Amino acid sequence: MAELPPPTLRLHIDKDALAQNWRALDRLSGPARAGAAVKANCYGLGVDNCVPVLGDAGCRDFFVAHWSEVPAVLGYVPAEQLSVLHGVGSAAEAEYARATGVRPVIDSVQQAKLWTESGGGPCHLMVDTGINRLGISPDEASDIAIQALSVEVLMSHLACADEDSDKNPAQLGAFREVMNKVPHRETSLANSAGVALGSDFSFDLTRPGLALYGGIPRPELADSIQQVAYPQASIIQTRQIEAGESVGYNATFTASSAMRVGVVSLGYADGILRSWAGAHFEAGGKRLPILGKVSMDMIVLDLTDATEIGEGDWVSLPYHLPDAARQTSLSQYELLTVLGRRFG
Ligand SMILES: *Cc1c(COP(=O)(O)O)cnc(C)c1O
Repeated sequence: MAELPPPTLRLHIDKDALAQNWRALDRLSGPARAGAAVKANCYGLGVDNCVPVLGDAGCRDFFVAHWSEVPAVLGYVPAEQLSVLHGVGSAAEAEYARATGVRPVIDSVQQAKLWTESGGGPCHLMVDTGINRLGISPDEASDIAIQALSVEVLMSHLACADEDSDKNPAQLGAFREVMNKVPHRETSLANSAGVALGSDFSFDLTRPGLALYGGIPRPELADSIQQVAYPQASIIQTRQIEAGESVGYNATFTASSAMRVGVVSLGYADGILRSWAGAHFEAGGKRLPILGKVSMDMIVLDLTDATEIGEGDWVSLPYHLPDAARQTSLSQYELLTVLGRRFG
């Protein structure tokens, strides 16, 4: 087999920043320890890139959503340190949990029965205190199927931690009440934004995801969290266009004078969606405006003022997540998880 040539787009992952973000969140969690949400392939940045770094930084509690995400993470962490947030919805999932030793997060009375009937064992329990997604209701805490569980971490999830909402103290109060009703070893409530809500929300274990990967869900975290993901692409062609010529699909940009333009090899198939139109790339401290629409595999840049940049040169898309969210109207979560598979 011939050797594959190097890619023309890459996602640079700043592993030091990732490790420092985990340490910062661990510190901000006070006496609690920070875990890590590593679902959705570490929010799109890659289990292989991120999980070993988080483990080396000191993380011991990892969360994925699906059982299909387990094998990749088990390559790096012991089974008892990994939990599946969607719990056990079938006998097959319960069997897999028992065979691997990975902890299910039990999300309903039904799941509790299924888990116990399949042999049971240590598990976590999610209580819904107001997000109305997954989890038992506080009323169900006294159900015998719940009382029969061997609960390691009793947890709940905040709906509005990224806002100053009355819902935060309300969910905190509801969680404290349930803590008295279900036997458990440890407790956990806060996601990334919840870590910034203060020590009342920290309990024994926090579960940041977004902020590990550079997201800043609350301004209190801005000074502690660093950018981790840097999308970059090389210029695969440059061309000269004349006044009156247009660029890209539907000719949404027309040159008012002669220009030099460059084509970069990434587009919406890579997760750089059309809402990036009107933004710019950067190279050597210069801004390179995006011209016209984003295509599936290409974006055209204005290189008129960057004569030193030519074919084969690498350019970067500024991906500071709060700024990128304002630019694109996507959430910081979406900006991470859309990043595509063609990145080298
Ligand atoms: C995804 C998730 C987290 C992490 O949330 P972030 O907002 O990304 O920090 C924590 N807990 C649960 C239950 C989750 O589903």
